[in-house]
Amino acid sequence: MSESKPIQAAKALWHTQRVKRLVRDYLGSSAACLVSVRERTCTDPDCAGPATDVRVVNLSFCETCFIIHKPVSSVSYSDIVEIL
Ligand SMILES: [Zn+2]
Repeated sequence: MSESKPIQAAKALWHTQRVKRLVRDYLGSSAACLVSVRERTCTDPDCAGPATDVRVVNLSFCETCFIIHKPVSSVSYSDIVEIL
């Protein structure tokens, strides 16, 4: 039985917030920055699953983007440590 759309959307939102918090934890409380996390379809033909975009913008508007080749629900703290 598949889950209803609202439940999926709520889970995706929860995981998005969870990953944002992991990024902030890693950067430390002194790092003033905007973190955005988004799950999307991966454009890599060799990659099966969805990918998670992580975007970090600091207060000088210097932007850093990372791609984690996992759905947002599978992103762990070690993935963040690896990319940042
Ligand atoms: Zn991918």
